[in-house]
Amino acid sequence: MNDLFDLTGQVAIVTGASSGLGAHFAETLAQAGAKVAIGARRVDRLAALAEKIVGSGGTALPVELDVTDAASVADAIQTAHGALGPISILVNNAGIPSAGRAIEMEESEWDAVLDTNLKGAWLMAREVGSHMVAHETAGRIINIASIIGVGTAAKRVLAYSVSKAGMVSLTESLALELAGNGICVNAIAPGYIETELNSGFLQSSAGQRIATRVPIGRFGETRDLDGVLLMLAGPAARYVTGSVVTVDGGLSLSTL
Ligand code: NDP
Repeated sequence: MNDLFDLTGQVAIVTGASSGLGAHFAETLAQAGAKVAIGARRVDRLAALAEKIVGSGGTALPVELDVTDAASVADAIQTAHGALGPISILVNNAGIPSAGRAIEMEESEWDAVLDTNLKGAWLMAREVGSHMVAHETAGRIINIASIIGVGTAAKRVLAYSVSKAGMVSLTESLALELAGNGICVNAIAPGYIETELNSGFLQSSAGQRIATRVPIGRFGETRDLDGVLLMLAGPAARYVTGSVVTVDGGLSLSTL
């Protein structure tokens, strides 16, 4: 039964692995036995994470990656494949936030958020998907969406919200197109998960007001995503594709 979550022999690439959820996903996949390529632009942080994973007995390869740049994406996949072998798991995690009212937002902000969060995920899925098909790998693609944009709207996050709604559509379309190749494509829609970047806000009085609306009674921790991540990454998900799994402590159910 434990084999359902065993990733021994798998090769994963995680985007946006230099901080927050992506760094945690990389560690979790490595602990489950996968060799992990960790991609982002801040290579110094990737090197430190790789050292940590290797120190715990895992295998990790830092790869410089800008998901908005098709050439960088192709280079990163080639480097990861060359060092670790054919890629069987992609975690499309890289993302940036947006802020400000929709009617005041600069066009450049829209472009940056959509290019990173949505186009970047497609560029990665295109490259890794064709790589998996070429190697006849029954792979897994896991897209990190959000509860924002998935049945839940929020003010002052228009571009982010649209990008995450697009991530769900990307997941469904890819799932349909790749099912015949044995590749399962799913999304995780987290609620508020505490990371180094948002913990200041989440611990503030404004943040704590939001926490009181979470039915489970607290914000998420990165490890709260582990079960769903491992389920979608491994043998347990062999008949699961096109799904969006919400991990939000019930927040998206709470309207009052
Ligand atoms: P962080 O800001 O900590 O991490 C974002 C990561 O994305 C960084 O590693 C950053 O690395 C990377 N990144 C940004 N732009 C690029 C790019 N062009 N190319 C490659 N990597 C890039 O945020 P979180 O960990 O909180 O968020 C991770 C994902 O989870 C995002 O998609 C976010 O939308 C989603 N999410 C997070 C939630 C939360 O509560 N934390 C809730 C719901 C969804 P670098 O700058 O080094 O390139």
